[in-house]
Amino acid sequence: MLYDSSNIFARILREEIACDKVFENDHVLAFKDISPQAPQHILIIPKGDYCNFHDFHENAPALLINEFYRTIRLVIQQCHLEKNGYRLITNCGVDSGQIVDHYHVHLLGGKNLGSLIVS
Ligand code: AMP
Repeated sequence: MLYDSSNIFARILREEIACDKVFENDHVLAFKDISPQAPQHILIIPKGDYCNFHDFHENAPALLINEFYRTIRLVIQQCHLEKNGYRLITNCGVDSGQIVDHYHVHLLGGKNLGSLIVS
């Protein structure tokens, strides 16, 4: 799959669209989901042209991969989600229902999230 730089997260990274920023460094941006599915619902994205999990792990430099997951942990700490727990989700491809084709991880928490629903 070719990366399409007109996707909404690419536009957020270019600051063409505003976001409710939670954390940013040279490699990663985290911001609140516009349609939260839990009291805390944050999207964490790498700064790079990667469509999904597969693309990221095949093509991103090791430094960025390392920094990305290190940052997720920082955001979890910043949001005080360590004690009660949280869920990380990444959708990849059509069957997952992935809407935005820029790699992202959902961080959800702030309540008991129940069990995963598979339908
Ligand atoms: P996914 O199905 O994993 O591709 O999820 C994409 C997520 O992006 C959804 O949870 C949307 O609510 C969220 N989203 C879409 N547009 C925006 C936006 N402009 N700002 C924040 N979140 C967004």
